[in-house]
Amino acid sequence: MSVKPIAMLGDPRLRLKGEPVDSFGKFLHGLLDDLADTMRHAPGVGLAAPQLGEAKRACVVEVQSRLYELVNPRIARSTGDDTDLEGCLSVPGYVAYVTRREKVWVVAQDRHGRSFKVAGSGLLGRALQHELDHLDGKLYIDYLESMDELIAVGQGDEDDGSESGGDGPTGSAIREATHALA
Ligand code: ZN
Repeated sequence: MSVKPIAMLGDPRLRLKGEPVDSFGKFLHGLLDDLADTMRHAPGVGLAAPQLGEAKRACVVEVQSRLYELVNPRIARSTGDDTDLEGCLSVPGYVAYVTRREKVWVVAQDRHGRSFKVAGSGLLGRALQHELDHLDGKLYIDYLESMDELIAVGQGDEDDGSESGGDGPTGSAIREATHALA
């Protein structure tokens, strides 16, 4: 178990399509442990294997102190639409509004290969969709029509008075999003 460097935007490994996991042994367990450690260290609410340079269909999501280890996950069902701020540990310093499904039902395998389901809406639903995208080499910025839609967030900038733009998101909404990177 250890904290690993996270691949940043521009790293070609972020764009690889993850291969299905067919071996549920030591390598996978080490990968899942590294994903959780690195996610918590960042900190973030999710991390996918391609972000650690491993083109495998495995990711972790942690919302409200509940850790989900997802191997070979797929969305079985989804409903509604939801637009909210979203950020990515591989694209530091920015967030943007992204429209996703409001609720998703994901089928995955655990670290031992056992199948399970997880349903999520709100932050959990968004994090699940964000991580599953990573497994296909997709980033949230791919949904933006223009990079102008990216909202810069100051590193360690906690000053409420420094918001830019009159109708933009509030400082607290941006802070909340920057504390929920995945
Ligand atoms: Zn991400």
